[in-house]
Amino acid sequence: MSTSECVFCGMVRDPIHQAPIYRDERVFVVRDINPKARVHLLIIPNTHLASLAYIGPGQLPIMGHLFVVAEEMARREGVTLSGYRLVLNQGADSGQEIEHLHMHLLAGQHLGSMG
Ligand code: AMP
Repeated sequence: MSTSECVFCGMVRDPIHQAPIYRDERVFVVRDINPKARVHLLIIPNTHLASLAYIGPGQLPIMGHLFVVAEEMARREGVTLSGYRLVLNQGADSGQEIEHLHMHLLAGQHLGSMG
């Protein structure tokens, strides 16, 4: 998929169309259009990386930043203490729909066990 066809790259190019609730030099955050929990945010790198399959040591700063911003967003949403789940889908079996690396933050209700 080229960056011109990528939904999330489109948001980087046109931040007015769907205004992020957070933005910095590395990532932006939007509310998921089809939320799976009361709080469902997507933390998305500004730069196109298709998925975890393309991650190497050069991406350590952005991968760390995703977690730092996730916790900052959890604090802003008031869910740090009640709890939240971070999800990063990789590939078809995970159900990854959009081939632009992103982290889901789910919270605001009991999310059930993963096991
Ligand atoms: P994934 O399955 O990990 O690729 O997750 C993609 C997520 O992006 C899904 O939860 C979708 O509901 C969400 N999504 C797709 N298009 C948009 C959009 N325009 N704005 C916000 N979320 C979106």
